Amino acid sequence: MKADKVLVVDGFNDQTFGLGVPPFLAVEPRSTAGACWLWASKSRVIYATIQDLRAGRKASLLRDADLVFVYAGVKEASPEVRPSNFDARDTIPELQDLFDYIAYLDCPKILAGPYALLRADTAKERFGVDAVVTGDMSKYAWNLLDPDASIDDVDPAVRRTQEDVSAFALPGAGLLVQNPGYPDFLSCSVELYRGCPSSSAGGCSFCHQRFYTTVQYRPVEDVLAEISKISELGCQNIVLESPCFFSYFSTPTEDGGVQLDPAAIEKLLEGIGRVAPELRSVHISSINPRVVADNPDDAKKILTAVMKNCSSANFPTLEVITFDDEVHLQNNTPASSEQSRQAIEIMAEAAGSARAGLPSFLPTVELVYGLAAENEETATRNLEQLSEMAERGLIRGVTARRLVPVPGTPIYKRDDIAQIPDLEGHMNALRERVNSTCESKLARPGELIDNVFAYASLDGSSLAQTVGINPVHLVVYGSSDGKSSQDVRVTGFSDSRLEAVVQPLEPRTVSRDILRLLPGMTEDRIDMFMKFRPEREDEFLQLFEDPVEGRRAASFFEFKKE
Ligand code: SF4
Repeated sequence: MKADKVLVVDGFNDQTFGLGVPPFLAVEPRSTAGACWLWASKSRVIYATIQDLRAGRKASLLRDADLVFVYAGVKEASPEVRPSNFDARDTIPELQDLFDYIAYLDCPKILAGPYALLRADTAKERFGVDAVVTGDMSKYAWNLLDPDASIDDVDPAVRRTQEDVSAFALPGAGLLVQNPGYPDFLSCSVELYRGCPSSSAGGCSFCHQRFYTTVQYRPVEDVLAEISKISELGCQNIVLESPCFFSYFSTPTEDGGVQLDPAAIEKLLEGIGRVAPELRSVHISSINPRVVADNPDDAKKILTAVMKNCSSANFPTLEVITFDDEVHLQNNTPASSEQSRQAIEIMAEAAGSARAGLPSFLPTVELVYGLAAENEETATRNLEQLSEMAERGLIRGVTARRLVPVPGTPIYKRDDIAQIPDLEGHMNALRERVNSTCESKLARPGELIDNVFAYASLDGSSLAQTVGINPVHLVVYGSSDGKSSQDVRVTGFSDSRLEAVVQPLEPRTVSRDILRLLPGMTEDRIDMFMKFRPEREDEFLQLFEDPVEGRRAASFFEFKKE
């Protein structure tokens, strides 16, 4: 099929292992563009998100599209509880909403992504699309754009190979410049492999990774070439995406576990620093707790490499799934409760507590509800374990979702799953007793947090977030252009939210309202400050009897040097 102009609509993916909701740009939309450009480097590929469509930003570019790919997630599969006590900034749109914006385009429309996988039986009729791709959108695009091919003879279940990933990745990187978050706020996920290295024991009852029967690791050089290209194009943040980062290049053992390869991971992480030194952030996405608990020495080596080469505020998802061992056994989840606890302790010890600003590394526990053998006890066990870990500062928080069963997984066929009574109340308890506690421990007043982006204006303040997986959301006071990253300094914690001011403060222009947020700034001191507007640090420190208190408040300002 010939197509001079292809539209790739990104409806985001927020499922387990899905890194597609802004600020992330997922692999498949990029790879699909790569497949198009491999066929014809001069063809036009237009990328549009739901925000672009709602704002009519690219309307004039879409009109004469020859072919539309819609990559869509499932809204109900998104986590209900997230580590920061904020509503997610961007969420999966209702698919009908998205299709309403492109219905007028008179060309073939192809639906792909997790929505197609989960709702293949109804999607075609419901949205009037020409094909529903249950395989990989990028490989389907490659096959369809063959001049001799037509929609009727391309297999919608076709999957990309390792060679396809390599071939599509470099040209596909070119799509990132069209993302609304480009350049500063955008974070590109870079795939290391897919499939489950730990699935020799059968794989988890709910997990779609079991569909990839063999695990093929992308060679380090191949990953580095893509990262180099992404960085060269101006994207400043990446997340290394895989079901378990620690398992990159691991090999299965006879007892159903894996043998890790710390050397391969060191080579990868050191290589990133070499080929893309301009990156502002490098984070990892997911970890299987059993892999850490079974291999403590190798896991510590990997954590050392992560601490040395990745950015701070690295909060990967730890696939605990449940702390209820009966649920673990019946669903073959990654780890027992004891293994999950051990993994968290190992990581806490290796990461240490020394830091300036946000912690360098903390795991974010992922829970899934809707599994076999769940009952009230499951909720109690999960809450007890996590509350204790939150109090000890061992975790970044918890992310919890209700399972939307994927056709073809064992859980899909079960009709005996009992709903935990008052699951809604339990989700609230996770927010209040776990995430709120974790959030309050992330940073103390006076600590500096860098690479923060404002995304919504409030009256006199803005909502902002860090980049990377499981980002920290804050209320930030002070002026901000909202376009580029900024440094902020924490002033306190209120209503389950960290509060901060934009840095540095300018003594000649700072307002009373901002001064009231700073630690140690009483009304008397503010009156004195406003009278003299001290421009030198020694003058400012005269407001304080306690020099420690004075220096802490002074750290918020940029004073004259002499
Ligand atoms: S351990 Fe389970 S959840 Fe993790 S990738 Fe394997 S099958 Fe999926």
